[in-house]
Amino acid sequence: MYIGRFAPSPTGALHLGSLLTALASWCDARAAQGKWLLRIEDIDTPRIQQGAVEHILHSLEHYGLYWDDEVSYQSQRTCYYQQALDILQHKQLIFWCTCSRSQLAQTGSAIYTGQCRTQQQFKANAAARLAVPQPNCLIQFNDGVFGAQYEDISQTVGDFPLYRRDSIFTYQLAVVVDDALQGITHIVRGADLLDNTARQIYLQRCLDYQTPFYSHIPLIVTSKGEKLSKQTGAKALDFTNPSATLWQLLVLLGQNPPKPLQYEAKEDILTWAINHWDLSNIPATLKLITDN
Ligand SMILES: [Zn+2]
Repeated sequence: MYIGRFAPSPTGALHLGSLLTALASWCDARAAQGKWLLRIEDIDTPRIQQGAVEHILHSLEHYGLYWDDEVSYQSQRTCYYQQALDILQHKQLIFWCTCSRSQLAQTGSAIYTGQCRTQQQFKANAAARLAVPQPNCLIQFNDGVFGAQYEDISQTVGDFPLYRRDSIFTYQLAVVVDDALQGITHIVRGADLLDNTARQIYLQRCLDYQTPFYSHIPLIVTSKGEKLSKQTGAKALDFTNPSATLWQLLVLLGQNPPKPLQYEAKEDILTWAINHWDLSNIPATLKLITDN
């Protein structure tokens, strides 16, 4: 059975780019008669914005993108991340890094150079890093939009952190554990995460998890090339005409919705989208331009 998910982080209001990803992920799950779960990635507590969760849930409902089961919150699942870290510790796949930011900067290397690898016993005030085999660790996967992908993570990221010195589990660990424990089979998400996929696949292998099928959705940028993101203060969604917005997003996703459809009710647009959904029509470009 297909199980998909949408996993926003509540660091601001949902913007057009995240709605595009939500719509693609929702259509892909519904077209496969699968489940679509909603997970709030609120583990990076310093960046969480008050009211953002409510805004995200309300926005999805406003556009008719209803989810299955209860919403899950990463902040309530830290025991699972700890269990995964314990397994990796037991397998001697992690080490405890005591390097400070300035020490790391001094190495002059973009990737971690392995100086703490011998510290395999737990240390307080240390980050846990996954030891990535050197000198090569080539990961291959087939993306639903971007096709065959290859990345040697020993050369691009090196030993990456799973637990931070400020006692926060990293996104990489949390997302891999959640996807596995929730039985996610298909991941449709923003192309900004395409270069995170290889290291997540490597981590899945270390934990004996299955690898889901990945599809990455192009990001929306303005005609000036600016990314629409919470950080750059992208305009909040215009709620006045959900039908027009959904229709416009289907155009961006290469689904060729007929023109008159934009004047129909949002439920009818979504039904059309499920019935005509074709992942292979999504343009394999990292950026889509819009001025709306
Ligand atoms: Zn270190």
